[in-house]
Amino acid sequence: MPPDTAAEPAYSRVMLKISGEALMGDLGYGLHPPTVERIAREVKTVHEMGVEICMVIGGGNIFRGLQGSAQGMERTTADYMGMLATVMNALAMQSALEGLNIHTRVISAIRMDEVAEPYIRRRAVRHLEKKRVCIFAAGTGNPYFTTDTAATLRANEMKCEAIFKGTKVDGVYDKDPAKHADATRYDTVTYDEVLAKHLGVMDASAIALARENAIPIVVFSLDEPGGFRGILEGQGTYTKVSG
Ligand code: UDP
Repeated sequence: MPPDTAAEPAYSRVMLKISGEALMGDLGYGLHPPTVERIAREVKTVHEMGVEICMVIGGGNIFRGLQGSAQGMERTTADYMGMLATVMNALAMQSALEGLNIHTRVISAIRMDEVAEPYIRRRAVRHLEKKRVCIFAAGTGNPYFTTDTAATLRANEMKCEAIFKGTKVDGVYDKDPAKHADATRYDTVTYDEVLAKHLGVMDASAIALARENAIPIVVFSLDEPGGFRGILEGQGTYTKVSG
């Protein structure tokens, strides 16, 4: 039977987490505007379904705290630089989304009022209710965390029904599919298995936070055109991490 495209979306409010590297296309560093726009178009197709969308974008395409500290920088300073990198990515995504006529707010965990709104939970919820895409920038605002944890934290606060983790592959595999031809993809996997087998979905604190609040994580490929929307319509390949 053909899929019922008029069906209700699987989730009404979601968090989309993408790494900074997803925005750099084939470049080795920084931002590739056509790639940012391509992802913005994927977001638009889901927005058109009436789904409320939160986003967290990493900063690894510009700066990672751990790399800075490995090269002799003070760790917390390096982490703040990483958080600032996520603000640049958030602004680039806002620009692309607004170019597609989608109202978007960048909400920063570190105050910078000329550039982005400060994070006020109730205000952010209101934006979502008004169908504005909320991009949460500057991670958690604290060093020693990652944007995976920030995405899980905000997903919980915003009462998202699922976290969509967009990656280069279409789910979670038992071994790296880029290196092993016999790698097999899980359709579903538990939080505990992800932690015990070090499956590399997200860092351990993010997984633990998702487990504590029973929020599922959907790992899918961002490179698959229409993939994000397809999952919300009940199609496609992905791995669902849950309890
Ligand atoms: N970061 C941080 N606290 C946070 C989130 C991020 O200190 O709550 C810093 C950390 O240095 C990290 C960098 O920001 O390396 C970029 O984030 P992340 O590595 O999560 O980006 P991604 O790998 O998703 O691109």
